[in-house]
Amino acid sequence: MNSISTDICIIGAGPVGLFAVFEAGLLKLRCHVVDALPQVGGQLSEIYPKKPIYDIPGFPEVLAGDLVRNLMQQIAPFHPTFTLGERVERYAKLDDGTFQLFTTDGTEIICKTICIAGGLGSFEPRKPAIEDLEKFEGGRGVHYMVRDPEHFRNQRLVIAGGGDSALDWTIFLADVAKEVTLVHRGTTFRGAADSAEKVQKLHEAGKVRLVLSSNVTHVHGNGHLEAVTITANGGSTESVALDHFIPLFGLTPKLGPIGEWGLELQDDAVKVNTLDYSTSEPGVFAIGDINTYPGKLKLILCGFHEAALMAQGAFKYINPDKKYVLKYTTVNGVPTL
Ligand code: FAD
Repeated sequence: MNSISTDICIIGAGPVGLFAVFEAGLLKLRCHVVDALPQVGGQLSEIYPKKPIYDIPGFPEVLAGDLVRNLMQQIAPFHPTFTLGERVERYAKLDDGTFQLFTTDGTEIICKTICIAGGLGSFEPRKPAIEDLEKFEGGRGVHYMVRDPEHFRNQRLVIAGGGDSALDWTIFLADVAKEVTLVHRGTTFRGAADSAEKVQKLHEAGKVRLVLSSNVTHVHGNGHLEAVTITANGGSTESVALDHFIPLFGLTPKLGPIGEWGLELQDDAVKVNTLDYSTSEPGVFAIGDINTYPGKLKLILCGFHEAALMAQGAFKYINPDKKYVLKYTTVNGVPTL
């Protein structure tokens, strides 16, 4: 059996889990990171690696994939270890106060503290209720996320949705695809006002076709998707020939096994104390999209802040008698373990 011993076991290699390695490393705490996905980066790698992000301090614009690469570079001096492609399933607190975790593949992790950075947990895309949609999944024309925009170069696309994801991808793919039609059931968008304005401008410039107050109701094709039917709220229909249909209606958060560990939960998220992002179980912390507290914002930069305070809390939990003095990182780089 593969067994690993560490100070902090970080569950989730999303941006917040990765940055937690840095903050813990500054306090000379060793980290082992586990992720169910085969790659690091969480939602940024899995859902939107080529999407620009505009709200990371110091980066006017950064592609999600590049942010993940930068985070990996930033934490490299602390030599974190990783178990990827394995989900953490079971958890126990041992008599000596340490924790024991087991993954789906039987890897054992013994750690002094646990930092849950599991994001949305095991996430599933929300699928629209359209008959025969599943016939065109798996590379036959229906996609619930955009992994590589190059896949859509010079192709005819219909995107459906009214949130950030639908807006952001419409803006990005307008320059890549041959045709982009955005279908939205309402007349106003749920996503950022700035993005909605950009889509409106692309529409006025003839680069995006905008079909509001409508839904995609039928899919047609023989083996591969060839057309969709768009039905307006008033009942009129039109058929649109296309190569790909991309319904972007968000993700269904599924907490997965973490929800069974006896931690105090609220609305499928782990309740934390914002003093140090500790959970109801001493020694177990939760940061990033997976936690909840009054005023919670599911943003990367908020998760980074949480990681800094979590590291302080973990340090105090592991070293109750040591006094910690805040030191700044210097121009000479970061201290190593
Ligand atoms: P995640 O990125 O979700 O990573 C969590 C990881 O934990 C996953 O890889 C998952 O596999 C793993 N995991 C879960 N449970 C287990 C388990 N039991 N065992 C092992 N591994 C497990 N935020 C911004 O700040 N700016 C933006 O512009 C922005 N744009 C976005 C656009 C889209 C389309 C989406 C969907 C989100 C966007 N967000 C944005 C939100 C941002 O992506 C999240 O806030 C961020 O990813 C949260 O990071 P995290 O590390 O907490 O979780």
